[in-house]
Amino acid sequence: MPDLEAENLDPITCSEQQFDNAVLYVKELKRGLIDFLKKPKRISIVNFPIELDDGSVRSFQGYRVIHNRVFGPGKGGIRYHPDVTMEEVVALAKLMTWKCALVNIPFGGAKGGVVCNTKVLSESELRHITRRFTSELSDSIGPYTDIPAPDLYTDEQTMAWIFDTYDVLHPGENNRPVVTGKPVDMGGSYGRHEATGNGVYYATERFLSKALIPEQQTVAGARIVIQGFGNVGSIAAQAFFRNGAKIIAVSDSKGGVYREGGFDPDELLAFKKEQGTIVGMPDTMTLTNQEIIELECDILIPAALSNQIHGDNARKINAKLIIEAANNPTTPKADAILTERGIYLLPDVIANAGGVTVSYFEWVQNQANQQWDLEEVNTRLQKRIYKVMDDVFSRWQGFIVGEVQPSASQPGQTSSTKPSFRCIALSIAIERVARATLMRGIWP
Ligand code: NAD
Repeated sequence: MPDLEAENLDPITCSEQQFDNAVLYVKELKRGLIDFLKKPKRISIVNFPIELDDGSVRSFQGYRVIHNRVFGPGKGGIRYHPDVTMEEVVALAKLMTWKCALVNIPFGGAKGGVVCNTKVLSESELRHITRRFTSELSDSIGPYTDIPAPDLYTDEQTMAWIFDTYDVLHPGENNRPVVTGKPVDMGGSYGRHEATGNGVYYATERFLSKALIPEQQTVAGARIVIQGFGNVGSIAAQAFFRNGAKIIAVSDSKGGVYREGGFDPDELLAFKKEQGTIVGMPDTMTLTNQEIIELECDILIPAALSNQIHGDNARKINAKLIIEAANNPTTPKADAILTERGIYLLPDVIANAGGVTVSYFEWVQNQANQQWDLEEVNTRLQKRIYKVMDDVFSRWQGFIVGEVQPSASQPGQTSSTKPSFRCIALSIAIERVARATLMRGIWP
């Protein structure tokens, strides 16, 4: 793990550093808005008891944070993990605000989490936690106020329980749009399960087509390493594999496996289903999660937890391109090192935006009680992700060729003339939210 003394990994501090770096590339920002844009609108903290299968009672803590609702209801996943903190949820809610603004969908940013270890809880205990958490959140979630979705260690089943609980508490209404990422048979969208992983693929494909890495202009033949083999990591692996890339290493919470000849992701999924992990797969070399991150490859895809690329290992990264499938996998210190080393990084705010994009499609379908077919969903998703990539790339290029100069208006900050894609993507999003805030007019 990173040396905590040397690097401040507090999620709020990290997200504020990202914001401050990006603001240098915002065309105009009314100074008084900066504080408003940095702070969450509302934080809910709930504590509730659950009776476990053995008859004992345990108390759980959960969070739901709405960062900003200028563009519409809050939108963001709910994660179940023993290390969830309020600070992490605040930082992730903020990231959702920028992500929704960047892909131009009418939602604000939100996020939630419950401190729990799903690996030691039974299905009925998880159902009780989900129902109780949902009822504790009460009317702070809703189809037009705040709409949850899956995230780490939550899935379609969790979303079905959230929908059911909310529906019981609000009879007689069309409650399907209260949550996205539902099972397809219960109003979920075709393609939502695969959306984040497929979006990771579309974003990478479009990025490579810009020829910044002259020897790798398509994914065909690219040697790929993926940290995390859950929903996002495994679906991304399948998309890259289908398009001719070679998946040389993957990992899960137990460790990683490497095979120079490459893996068929379906073979990995079958082994994981049987054994509970990919570690131990025949004809592979076992690696730690840190070794996975430092492997020599063309494209490195962190698809698990935050802060995996940090000040201690950023100089050892041996990839030409990093695609952030996970949220916040790279610390600001690592960001600066990677930029200095000329390693391109496609940030989370673009790379994993496929999930929230198809969540929006699900919400639209639910409003009209319709279900689009898979082809329609994927075509619309690809178009949106390509558009975001093109918007970010053309603004980035403007700074690189010197047509546009960074703003020097923020006190105490210096700006590099070679911004990262994160800075540019965030600057577009911040600008849109700031402009909309002023257009609506500061109330009263
Ligand atoms: P998931 O629960 O389906 O999978 C998580 C994976 O990470 C599992 O394979 C797990 O074994 C692995 N993992 C856990 N701890 C690890 C560790 N210490 N080292 C390496 N691997 C570890 O979760 P997911 O939905 O695939 O989410 C993964 C990431 O993608 C998260 O950062 C999440 O916020 C982000 N994300 C998810 C979505 C979505 O639609 N699910 C959307 C946007 C962003």
